[in-house]
Amino acid sequence: ALYQREALERKLLYNQLQELRGNIRVFCRCRPDTQSQSCLDFPSDDEIHVNQNGSRKKFSFDKVFSPQSTQEDVFTDTLPIITSCVDGYNVSILAYGQTGSGKTYTMMGTQEKPGVNIRSIRALLHICHERETIRYTIKISMLEIYNETVKDLLSKNIGDLLDLRTQGKNVTVHGLTETEVATEADIREIMTLGEKNRTVASTKMNTESSRSHLMVMLRVSGMDSISGVASFGTLTLCDLAGSERISKTEATGQRLVEAAAINKSLTSLGQVFTALKTNALHVPYRNSKLTHLLQPSLSGNAKACVFVTVSPDVKNLGETLNSLLFGSSIQQIALGKVAPQI
Ligand code: ADP
Repeated sequence: ALYQREALERKLLYNQLQELRGNIRVFCRCRPDTQSQSCLDFPSDDEIHVNQNGSRKKFSFDKVFSPQSTQEDVFTDTLPIITSCVDGYNVSILAYGQTGSGKTYTMMGTQEKPGVNIRSIRALLHICHERETIRYTIKISMLEIYNETVKDLLSKNIGDLLDLRTQGKNVTVHGLTETEVATEADIREIMTLGEKNRTVASTKMNTESSRSHLMVMLRVSGMDSISGVASFGTLTLCDLAGSERISKTEATGQRLVEAAAINKSLTSLGQVFTALKTNALHVPYRNSKLTHLLQPSLSGNAKACVFVTVSPDVKNLGETLNSLLFGSSIQQIALGKVAPQI
């Protein structure tokens, strides 16, 4: 009994220590698809099995969401990092997977079934509201990274190209439109505008949204009226470009340029994670616009949550395996020593 108690105490301590470190949680979500033959099984809530020619590959994650999972289920485990954001951490939530696997459904969702974006922001507002002595200011911005260029989605001049600037540990987007928001209605309005502008810009330039990364960024500053202590946290919600390998023979002209740019940013993301995992002296954040922008959310004062989305269709087996391998490789990475920004 004594041994068991000690083991339990050690486990609790370990969990507390994990909480204190900047870390990544990786969730896997499989979309429903009744039309096709499935190659996936969901034996428990943290395991997914891939059946390939009679053999079985097993992957485990912090949580696995089967096709039956609802938008509510998927958000439950994300809630703690939203609290961290209000406490002064740089928090990011990313969706990674092939086009059509449910990234946008998971992040944006639909009007009736809102996804992680709206739920996170709703939770954030709620937490800020509950802390009566602290006055919070929340500012939102929305941008798209396409072909290694950054476009402001809230600007009057749709698609203004912007530069990234580094100031100390912060990375800012020079000239990015920022709007102060106080209610969920404000936020929905802004996000609808950003989405609309994204469609207008992509129609004008003949591009597809699956080829670009979408980022919604919130900056949350708090001032405690009693202690005078200030805090500053950020929440970055990112719907990444489709992770599928685009065959060189299929892509020509603009599509080939796009494919190279997506590869560059997603490859850089992988390289940043590998460098963090191996405690490398140099983490190559600056290799792509995506990783440069995510640097504050993937270093030091940060917590991240990655949704790896997959399709059950046996025809997508190759891409599904790639995505699951990516997700497995980034589990339990420590982002750095953590203390909230106060
Ligand atoms: P991606 O953003 O990865 O390209 P989408 O989110 O656009 O993929 O999903 C492709 C299609 O599948 C959409 O029509 C979407 O509504 C649907 N879909 C994806 N995931 C789910 C889900 N969990 N439940 C219901 N429909 C889903």
